[in-house]
Amino acid sequence: MAEEMNGAQLLVESLLANGVKNVYGLVGIPVTDVARLMELKGIDFYGFRREDAAVEAAAIAGYLTGRPGFALTVSAPGFLNGLVALKEATQNCFPMVLMSGSSDRALVDMDRGEYEGLDQYNVAKPLCKASYRIDKPEDVGLGVARAIRTAMTGRPGGVYLDLPGEMLGEICDLDDPMSTIQVPVDPAPAMEPSDEAIARAVEVLRSAKQPAILIGKGAAYAKAEDQIRDFVESTNIPFVPMSMAKGVIPDGHKSSAAAARSLALGQSDVIILMGARLNWLLSNGASPKPFGKDVKFIQIDIDGEEIDSNRHIAAPLVGDMVSVLKKFVPAVKASGYKAPQEWLDQIAAKRAANEEKMNERYEAGRNREPMGFYGALLPIKELIAEHPDTYLVSEGANTLDMGRNVIDILQPRHRLDTGTWGVMGVGLPYAVGAAVETGRPVIALEGDSAFGFDGMEMDTICRYNLPVTVVIANNAGVYNGIDHKIGDETIKQHVPTYLGFSHYEKISEAFGGNAYEVHNATEMAQALKEAYESGKPTIINAILGEKMGAESGHIGHLNPVVFHEGMEGYVAPKPKTK
Ligand code: ADP
Repeated sequence: MAEEMNGAQLLVESLLANGVKNVYGLVGIPVTDVARLMELKGIDFYGFRREDAAVEAAAIAGYLTGRPGFALTVSAPGFLNGLVALKEATQNCFPMVLMSGSSDRALVDMDRGEYEGLDQYNVAKPLCKASYRIDKPEDVGLGVARAIRTAMTGRPGGVYLDLPGEMLGEICDLDDPMSTIQVPVDPAPAMEPSDEAIARAVEVLRSAKQPAILIGKGAAYAKAEDQIRDFVESTNIPFVPMSMAKGVIPDGHKSSAAAARSLALGQSDVIILMGARLNWLLSNGASPKPFGKDVKFIQIDIDGEEIDSNRHIAAPLVGDMVSVLKKFVPAVKASGYKAPQEWLDQIAAKRAANEEKMNERYEAGRNREPMGFYGALLPIKELIAEHPDTYLVSEGANTLDMGRNVIDILQPRHRLDTGTWGVMGVGLPYAVGAAVETGRPVIALEGDSAFGFDGMEMDTICRYNLPVTVVIANNAGVYNGIDHKIGDETIKQHVPTYLGFSHYEKISEAFGGNAYEVHNATEMAQALKEAYESGKPTIINAILGEKMGAESGHIGHLNPVVFHEGMEGYVAPKPKTK
């Protein structure tokens, strides 16, 4: 007679059979023993301080590995804490599975006041690709396999798996419980576009006098870097990466038009979207900025529903990036198409002029006192140039925006940031996920406000002794630490955006990590070097001038105008300086 097994045992065996090595979570009723069992059976359980952070780590594990990351939380409040990250993973198209323990269904459904009672299965439904509840131990194998397939197939995303506490402890009454375990076959099958779709796209491209490629994080996720590079280098078409697609082709490549972005996107007559949505990050495809009115789009995306979501798409190529490019690139090569030299010359001239201006600005900013963003960011740029296999995680407003422009990324999937939702609280959790999944050093570049959302995860970084250096660009406030007069009140402590120059580095010391406070670029470079060489958890508190940084960084225009002229509290905008 085969060994008796309960739901929890079958869950752990299902995860093992599916190659799950790491689970990110926070224990409590009713999943503490599940986490213990995972550890016992060889799955590493990474315990966090808040569930949202654990779910973020699972999400980035999914993005980096191409297999769903797994997270585990307790019922109602823990589950709810994890939901923001589940929804965010789904918005970002990252495959992941959130597993939460849940309370007695009979009591929950009759609203009888159950411990942490919540209809989690239905609450999760609109916030992810699919929600499944496993009511019987014999269905655990099916539930795990179904969650993995749903997370990975087509457009990837988050899946919720509800694990009632009763089911976890219930013995499976089959003779051979292990026979219920399933491993999905080919969960992300190749999807090729038709020959007609390829021919149409080639025709559109052949008409292009000023073509450009926009690479998004869908292409990075798809690990299509070899095909994309081949395409770029055989056609010379200039490319612009979205922030997390930096490094798919190294920044600085001769066809990079990142430094001539407005020209490349605004003047193009044909743009090839590779795993990038025309969402708010691209002004929903608006013209004349960022795109011209008459531009034709070729869009490569795994999700047919994405096509025509904001602009008319002349040539959709629906399929997975690698399969599409394996058909499209040879067809373009066979057509003999190359980007016209006149266009390349225009882009090259603009790029050279802009790079010269930017470099002057960076160098002028490097040594300013008090320290500005460039003083903190340039040493990071230089460290990554020397060690390109360092992961960079970034969140904040100004810190995020300026870091994106200043710091070159040289390898694919090495920049991880706030993504499609621009959400704060991803920095330290993504750093944990990246360090665990890749074993490589990570720099988590944080604004001081952003650090507040996930700073307690420094404990997690220290407990697992991960090679993570957290750099806090500290300008004493949300956006900055400037007084903003409200009525007659100018006391900083009463200003909503003011935070003060806190000693965040002490948080690292509290948990046994290294700590630095730096005030200029030289100290910053030295601290960063020592942190990198030590491989130990570190916080570098980079003290900037409190006036550094603009409200909402580069997206201040998204704020509604509340204070208008004539109203108490109105501050006239400063005239624009060149
Ligand atoms: P970015 O923010 O970098 O512009 P988005 O997240 O907006 O990128 O877009 C990513 C797109 O990539 C999504 O529309 C998604 O459907 C698509 N995508 C995800 N995986 C693949 C894949 N394997 N092949 C093709 N497209 C993919």
